[in-house]
Amino acid sequence: MHLETKLVQAGVGKDEKTGAVNFPVYYSTAYRHPTLGESTGFDYARTANPTRSILEDTIANAESGDGGFACASGMAAIHTVMGLFSQGDHLIVSLDLYGGTYRLFEQVLSRYGLTFSYVDLRDLESLEKAVKPQTKAVFVETPTNPLIQITDIQEVAQLAKRHGLLTIVDNTFMTPYCQRPLELGADIVLHSATKYLGGHNDVLAGLIVAKGQELSEKIGFLHNSIGAVLGPQDSWLLLRGMKTLALRMERHQTNAFAVANKLREHPAVTEVFYPGLPEHPGHDIQQKQSSGFSGMVSFRVRSADQVKPFLKNLRIVSFAESLGGVESLCTYPATQTHADIPIEIREYVGVCDRLLRLSVGIEHPDDLIADLCEALDASLAVGGSVR
Ligand SMILES: *Cc1c(COP(=O)(O)O)cnc(C)c1O
Repeated sequence: MHLETKLVQAGVGKDEKTGAVNFPVYYSTAYRHPTLGESTGFDYARTANPTRSILEDTIANAESGDGGFACASGMAAIHTVMGLFSQGDHLIVSLDLYGGTYRLFEQVLSRYGLTFSYVDLRDLESLEKAVKPQTKAVFVETPTNPLIQITDIQEVAQLAKRHGLLTIVDNTFMTPYCQRPLELGADIVLHSATKYLGGHNDVLAGLIVAKGQELSEKIGFLHNSIGAVLGPQDSWLLLRGMKTLALRMERHQTNAFAVANKLREHPAVTEVFYPGLPEHPGHDIQQKQSSGFSGMVSFRVRSADQVKPFLKNLRIVSFAESLGGVESLCTYPATQTHADIPIEIREYVGVCDRLLRLSVGIEHPDDLIADLCEALDASLAVGGSVR
């Protein structure tokens, strides 16, 4: 079956007693045992819940993995996976990284004796140099957030394998519709399903998919032991969102192309970062490893003074801190998603005060372009005369 079909058919025919087309929400936390030593497969809701199980099977199948696990948030998913590591272990991590992941690593897990090196994973030599005897894994975000840099997953996974390291990929920006890291050699895929998978800015969730029986069992143990699992209602909402993933991703991408091309011509804008553009430095790798470019577009305006009037003059695009939903959002990473990253690191990686990030929604592209252009024009008039 094609991915579109797998997603739409998720849960269909699985509630055999009633024949419900839409798989129901099971709220029961406890399940009766037929007799001593027997189980229906469900005992207690932290360990397994029928609605959550449908979701977990669906994402595992969509990502070409073996074990799927639904968590209370993307951060809960990342934290659960980090349970694989012990005091003294070292991980190599993408330099341009989701701010919350950086915060978890540096302000929480570092206190547990884990250490992290942040490396530009587009540069395999730097990656190889960063490997130490205590290194256990490479944690990859591609495209990176918010600079949309592309890492070659296959090359990183091969290098990691040579050194006996796990490859973990945060696939939030691409979704399995566009990119399947396990097929490229990664061991674990993570999602903030709050974003494209949920797709409607209405459910907070995280997903993990592991390759192979052994790793799946280890993560299953951590998932149940830590207990940051997704509730039944949210599992159902997420499944509903995922059924339309293919349609939404197609439209996100078409709109993102239209917006990126328009921004590129606007005098208020100096740079546009979208991997679908042929001049994007990661364009060829993205084309090789993915079947799409998704809907995230970042750009720099001429002067930081333009940011405030630009955001104030947006009428359709919301100035809000998330991505991947049907509604277009614009984020200012310097003070929002990346506020917890020290300014020296932020500026060094390029998350400067002129950078804005768009999550291009599925509205009509002409309306989005008109909204963005009007706000950019206003930003030039008020703040940022062309210096
Ligand atoms: C949002 C996000 C996360 C964190 O997910 P939550 O669902 O907000 O906990 C992790 N990685 C990336 C790339 C994200 O965009």
